[in-house]
Amino acid sequence: MPRNPEFDILFEPVRIGPVTARNRFYQVPHASSTGADMPNTRKGLRAIRAEGGWGVVCTGYCSVHPTADDAPFRYSRLWDDEDVRNLAPMVDAVHEYGALAGVELFHGSSLTSNRATREVPLSPSGLPRFQVGGRGSYPQHPRAMDKADIRNLRTWQVDAAKRAKSAGFDIVYIYAGMSFGPFQFISRRTNRRTDEYGGSLENRVRLLREMIEETREAVGDTCAVAVRFSVDELMGEAGLQWHDEGRGVFELIGELPDLWDLKTFGYEDSSNARYSDEGYQEPYVAFAKQMTSKPVVGVGRFTSPDAMVSQVRRGVLDLIGAARPSIADPFLPKKLEEGREDDIRECIGCNICYSCYHESVPIRCTQNPTMGEEWRRDWHPERIDARASDDRVLVIGAGPAGLEAARALGQRGYEVTLAEAGTELGGRLRHESRLPGLSTWIRVRDWRRGQLDKLPNVEVYFDSRLSPEHVLEFDFPRVVVATGARWTTALCDARSVPMPATFGGRVLTPDDIMAGTEVVSPVVLFDFDQYYMGGCLAERLAEQGHRVTYVTPADVVSAWCAYTHDQWYAQQRLIELGVTILTGAFVSGFDGRTVTLSGRYAGEARTLEAANLVVVGAREPEDTLYRMLAARPQALNEAGIRTLQRIGDCDVPGAVVHATYAGHRLAREFDANVAPMRLEHARLDAM
Ligand code: ADP
Ligand code: SF4
Repeated sequence: MPRNPEFDILFEPVRIGPVTARNRFYQVPHASSTGADMPNTRKGLRAIRAEGGWGVVCTGYCSVHPTADDAPFRYSRLWDDEDVRNLAPMVDAVHEYGALAGVELFHGSSLTSNRATREVPLSPSGLPRFQVGGRGSYPQHPRAMDKADIRNLRTWQVDAAKRAKSAGFDIVYIYAGMSFGPFQFISRRTNRRTDEYGGSLENRVRLLREMIEETREAVGDTCAVAVRFSVDELMGEAGLQWHDEGRGVFELIGELPDLWDLKTFGYEDSSNARYSDEGYQEPYVAFAKQMTSKPVVGVGRFTSPDAMVSQVRRGVLDLIGAARPSIADPFLPKKLEEGREDDIRECIGCNICYSCYHESVPIRCTQNPTMGEEWRRDWHPERIDARASDDRVLVIGAGPAGLEAARALGQRGYEVTLAEAGTELGGRLRHESRLPGLSTWIRVRDWRRGQLDKLPNVEVYFDSRLSPEHVLEFDFPRVVVATGARWTTALCDARSVPMPATFGGRVLTPDDIMAGTEVVSPVVLFDFDQYYMGGCLAERLAEQGHRVTYVTPADVVSAWCAYTHDQWYAQQRLIELGVTILTGAFVSGFDGRTVTLSGRYAGEARTLEAANLVVVGAREPEDTLYRMLAARPQALNEAGIRTLQRIGDCDVPGAVVHATYAGHRLAREFDANVAPMRLEHARLDAM
C-alpha cells in the first residue's frame, strides 16, 4: 500500500550539522544494559532499528573515562582503542541500512560512583548524592573538581569524540541532562562554585560551551555535535525550570550545537503509562524551537503517526525521538512508509524495558519478544521461518501467551485453532487493563487480534472451555495449553515463602475483585507480590470509597515498581487517596473481624479491624487441563496427539512480558532444530 500522504512530512530529510538524517524518525540514546561486554547483542538490537527505517540510531550512554564508571549498571564506553573496535561493528551495521549512528558520550559527575574502577568520583562542588530507593546511596562523596579536573573532563570528552569518529559515528553527543556531567555545573542546586564556572548562568554554562566548541573542533568536520539537555528539573522553583534558566541556556548557546535532544529530568520521572500520556514532554520542550534554528529532537512515547505529524507541524519538534516506541516496534517507520500503520506494535508504557537497566540484564520488551534476542537467538521482529510440517495446532487459551503463540505459528503458515473459554481475547488483560492507569496494556491483545484477523489460517473459537475429553476427541496432532494462572489466598512466612492459610473470614484475591465480587469495608490489602497489582487494587478500592489499609513486608508500596518507575507515583497516589500504608509487616491471620500482623523488623504482633482481607501474593498455574492430559500418554497416543506443551502463566506464573516471550519462543522452536543460544565471550588478554 502507498504511504498515507498525511505522513509525508515525517519522511523529509533533516540536516544535522555536516550530516543528513534520511527522515524524522530518531531512535534516541537509551540504555540497553548490554554494556561493553555484550557488543554483539548491542549491535543486533541497534541495527534492527536501522533496518526498520529509523533515520538515526544511537547507542545508550557511552562513558568517556574510568571516572565515569556507572557500575553496577551496564553502559557502553570509549575509553581506549579497543573500545572503538567494540563499538564499530554496531556503527557499520547501522550504516548498512542507511541510518546515521549517534553516540551519547557521557560523564556522570557525582552520579557515577566508580564502584568498579575505584576512581575518585568528581562533581562541581563535591556534593554527594543521597539516593532513596533503587540501589541507594554510596558511602563515598565526590571530590569538588579543581581546574585540572575540569581541564581533564574536557580532554576526556574530546578524546572520546575522536574515538567515536574513528568508530564511524555521525552524531557525537555531550550529555548535559539528568544531572550528568555539565548539567551539574549548570544547575544551581549542584554548583556552588565561586570561580568562573560558578555563580552567573553564563559561568555555569561555561563548561558545556567549552565542551561543545572543543568537540566540534575535534570532530565537527564529519560529525554533528549534539547536546542532550534536561530543560526542567521538575522541582518547581527549587530546580532549573524551562521558562527560567532552561530558556536562559538557549539564550546563551542556542545556536552552538548542531542538534538539541531535549528531555525532562530524571529516570524516576520517565513516564510509565500509568501516570503519563503520549506527548508528556511537550509543555516543557515546546519553547525550544523558538530559541534556536538548530534541529530539536524530543521523546514522548509517540506511537501515533498523527501525534508525530502534529509535533512537527506545530513546530514543537523537528525529529521524533523514540526509545520505547522503537523497542516495541523497530519497524515503525517502515510500516508507515508502506501504508501499514495498522501493523504498528504500539508500546504500552509498562517500562519493563527500563527494569532491565535497573537490574543490569539485557533489555527485553513486553510487546516485542524479539527485542534483545536479535543476535543471540537470531530472532527478527518481522520475519520467521516458514512452517516445517503440515501439522494442525490447537492452542488453548487466548491470553498473551496463547495469542502470541497462535499469531506467530500462524505467521509461519501453520493451520491454527485458538480455543478460548471466554467471549473475548486477551486473558488476564481483559480485566487488568481496566485497573487504574493500565488501559494501554490492552494493546498487547489488540495488536495480536489485528494480526490474527489477517491470517486466514488461524481460526478463533470463543465460549470453548475445553476439557481433556474435548481435546482427545478433536483431531489435532499438536496441542499447546496456555490456560493462565490464578491468584491464591496463601500468606507468606517471615522468609517470604508462600504458606497456605485457613481464615475465619472472607478473603479475596485480585481475581475476585477484578471479577466484580462485592467488597466490604474496612479492607486490609496484603501485598507481598510487590509489583503493580496490589497498588492498583488499593487505588481502585479507595476510589470506590472503601476504607483501605495497604500492608506489605517491603519498605514501600509496590516495591518492584521502582524498576519500572511507577513506585513513587503509586505510593503518592495511595497517600492522596487516604489509604493507610503499613510497611515492613506480614499478615498472619484473619478471623472475619480482625487481621493479625507481625512486624518484619521487631516481629511485634498487632491487629487491624477488617471486614475483608485481600491477598495479593502468590499465583498458581491453571494447569489442570495440561496435567490431566499429560497423565494419559496412551490416550494421547491413541488420539494422534504427538506433542502436548504448556506455555505462559499455566507453565510458570509471571508478568505479561514472560507470557508473550513464552508464546513467541514456542512458535519459533516449533518443529525446529533449535541452535543453542549464542553466548558473548569476554576475551582474555595475554598477561
Ligand atoms: P497467559 O498470561 O499465560 O496468556 P492468561 O491468564 O492471560 O494467561 O490467559 C489464559 C486464558 O486461557 C484465559 O483467557 C482463559 O479464559 C483461558 N482458558 C483457561 N482455561 C481454559 C480452557 N480449559 N479452555 C479454553 N480456554 C481456557
Ligand atoms: Fe514499551 Fe513496555 Fe516494550 Fe518498554 S517494555 S518498549 S514500555 S511495551
